[in-house]
Amino acid sequence: MRSETALLHLLKKLQSLEASRDRQAIAESVVVAALEILNARSAILHGVKPTPHGLVSIPVAWAIRGGISSTTDLDNADIDDNLIAADPLLEDCAASPGGIASAKEDDHLRLAFSISQSNTTVAIFESLCDEPPSDAIFECVRELLSIYAEHLVLLDYAELDTLTRLHNRKTFDENFDRFIAIAEQARRRSTDEPITAEGLAAKHCWLGVIDIDKFKRINDNFGHLFGDEVLLRVAEVMKKSFRASDKLFRFGGEEFIVLLRFVTAENAHLVFDRFRQAVEHHEFPQVGQVTCSMGYIQIDPSLAPAEILGRADEALYFCKENGRNQINRYETLVQTGLIQGPVVPVANEDLQADIDALFD
Ligand code: GH3
Ligand code: MG
Ligand code: MG
Repeated sequence: MRSETALLHLLKKLQSLEASRDRQAIAESVVVAALEILNARSAILHGVKPTPHGLVSIPVAWAIRGGISSTTDLDNADIDDNLIAADPLLEDCAASPGGIASAKEDDHLRLAFSISQSNTTVAIFESLCDEPPSDAIFECVRELLSIYAEHLVLLDYAELDTLTRLHNRKTFDENFDRFIAIAEQARRRSTDEPITAEGLAAKHCWLGVIDIDKFKRINDNFGHLFGDEVLLRVAEVMKKSFRASDKLFRFGGEEFIVLLRFVTAENAHLVFDRFRQAVEHHEFPQVGQVTCSMGYIQIDPSLAPAEILGRADEALYFCKENGRNQINRYETLVQTGLIQGPVVPVANEDLQADIDALFD
């Protein structure tokens, strides 16, 4: 493609970029534009995320020459195992923020552009080309990707908590609705197709509400700056404890929420308790030991979102009343009689009978 035509493509795509807040749609339009500018055979945009096992790449959107493009269904994809270290080209690229890595393979050239923020690779654009592009084309693609990176910063600013960089409260409702829909989809599939009890159990989704214990005391004894440092460290422990596909929120001052998907009850308990222990054993500067409590619940798609959240909160309240530094599952507390279960609404006719009895 001639560089003037490429520039025109670039300008057109920038217009749609500015208008959109849908990350998947933006990613797809960037991939298509960059593929066309490079006249590549295929292109893919990987998100890059740190995990306890190393950097992982998450395929976000892809395109093939000839007009086929798509975004990944991230809600149902298994995105925790694509270690970047397994692919030398992506590894090279991730290690040079803002740079480019290339490798000649058989009859094509693999090109990987690092998309960076604050000198860290946050995404990689990868393409397969027939031949090396000209310098002008290279520059066009780099420009497009750097504008894309700036757009991501703006989106992050609106959607992430400024202190902890977890998702903020504003984005919770939308994400929670999506999680409930995922839980409902898994449940429906299990009734449509034969699925074993174990298969179904592995498809459960969970909500956990975390609250730092005696946080007021930390602020009072050490000051707000150290209080903020504790919040930041707890968020870091969260990021290390959970998978890339889990959603983490700072819900309020020292309250956090985790949404887990496709985990059995046993594993949900293990994962949540592993996080609680990681906080307990973390050395917080000056402050020393900090603990947290968590109430959690299986996401039942037939319940209203506020009801699910309220029940997890009840389980959290139970932790606070019973020594803190513990996690409790709402359903277990109800089954064992430790808290009262949901109050079943009384049918109208029963209520009327009671009222009549009162006045008899
Ligand atoms: P409990 O174990 O019962 O949860 O005790 P607690 O002291 O943590 O209870 P509470 O929820 O009443 O206290 C939370 C405190 O968190 C109150 C508020 O001053 C403080 N806080 C809220 N937001 C922030 C923040 O952004 N930074 C700091 N440093 N403190 C905050
Ligand atoms: Mg609180
Ligand atoms: Mg607290």
